[in-house]
Amino acid sequence: MNIIPLFIPHAGCKTRCVFCNEYAATGLPKFPELEKLRNTIIEYRGYFKDKENVDIAFYGGTFTGLPLKIMTAYLELSMQFIREGYAKGIRFSTSPEEITPEKLSIIRNYPVSLTELGVQSFDNEVLKKAHRPHNLDDVYNAVKLLKNNAIPFGIHLMTGLPGDTEAKDLISATEVANLGALTCRIHPTIVLRGTALEEMYLRGEYVPQSLENALEITWKMYALLTSRGVRVNRMGLCLYGDTVKEVVSGPYHPAFGDLVKSKVALEIAKLIADEKKSRNLILPAGPEYRQFFTGYKKYVIRNLQKLGITLEFSENSSTIDIDRYVSKLCEKTVVCPGVF
Ligand code: SF4
Repeated sequence: MNIIPLFIPHAGCKTRCVFCNEYAATGLPKFPELEKLRNTIIEYRGYFKDKENVDIAFYGGTFTGLPLKIMTAYLELSMQFIREGYAKGIRFSTSPEEITPEKLSIIRNYPVSLTELGVQSFDNEVLKKAHRPHNLDDVYNAVKLLKNNAIPFGIHLMTGLPGDTEAKDLISATEVANLGALTCRIHPTIVLRGTALEEMYLRGEYVPQSLENALEITWKMYALLTSRGVRVNRMGLCLYGDTVKEVVSGPYHPAFGDLVKSKVALEIAKLIADEKKSRNLILPAGPEYRQFFTGYKKYVIRNLQKLGITLEFSENSSTIDIDRYVSKLCEKTVVCPGVF
C-alpha cells in the first residue's frame, strides 16, 4: 500500500503525552491549513503508478478528536482526490477515547481503510504515567465500536515507557492479537526535546531503554504478533531530515525495524542449527532467504560467527518455511504471561 502522509501535529489532542513532541518528530511548526494539505496530496499524487493502492493518511494528531467541522473538511478534501481516481482510501491515527458512535456515524460514510489506534500499552498504570488521555476501558470500547461499524483497525504500541516492563509489553502484544487488530506499529520510547519525558530524564527520574534492550523486547513482540497473523507495519520512530537532532536519549536507530527482523532471523538460524545439531548451516539460495538470513549490515552472519556457527547458501538446500519458524520460535522462546 502506498501512503500519502498528511501530518497534523497535535491537532485534536486534548492532552500532551509525556513522550510526544510531534512538532519535533515531523518538523512541522504548526497545525497545517487545508490548502497546505491539498498541495501535499497534489505533490504526492504523481508518485504512485498504481492508483488502486494509494491511501491518504492523517498522522501525528488525534484525527477523531478534531472539531467535527474540520474533521469532515479533511475527509471531504480526501474524497475529491479519491473521486478523481488518485487514491483509494483514507486512514488516520487517533486516540481510543475519541472513537464515539457520533464520530463513527460520520466516518463510516467514507472509504476508511484503517483506523490506527494509539494504545501504547495494555497496562493502566503505564498509561497513567505516560499521561495518555485514555484507559483500557476506552480501548475495548473503541475496538467494539470499530468492529460494529466494520471499520478495520490497527494498534500502536510502545516499549520502555515509565513503569513498563518486558512482561507488560508481551501482554500488550498478545492483547493486540486477541482483539483482532489488522496491523500493529511498535515504537520504543525515545526521549525527544521539549517533552515532559525529557524533564524526567534530566532529573534522573526516567532511564531510557538501551538499543539492545529495546531490540530484545521488540523482536519477541514482532514474532508473537506475526505468528498470530497481525501485520507489523512499522517498528521504530520515523524521524525526517534534521528532526533526528531532537533526540535527547533512548534507543533511536534509523533502521530499527531492519535490526528487529535481523534479530528474528538470527534466532531462527540458531534454532535451525540446534535442530540440525550442526555448526555449519546450509540454507536455500533464493534471494528472499539470502536477504533475510544475511540481515541488516550482515547482522545475522556476524552474530552467528561469534557463536561459532558458519552460514552458507546453496541451490541444493531444501526450502525453509520462515513463517512456521517464526511460530516455532514464538512457542519456544517468547514466554508470554497468559493473563487474558
Ligand atoms: S501521542 Fe498522540 S495523543 Fe499523545 S500528544 Fe502525541 S499525537 Fe497527541
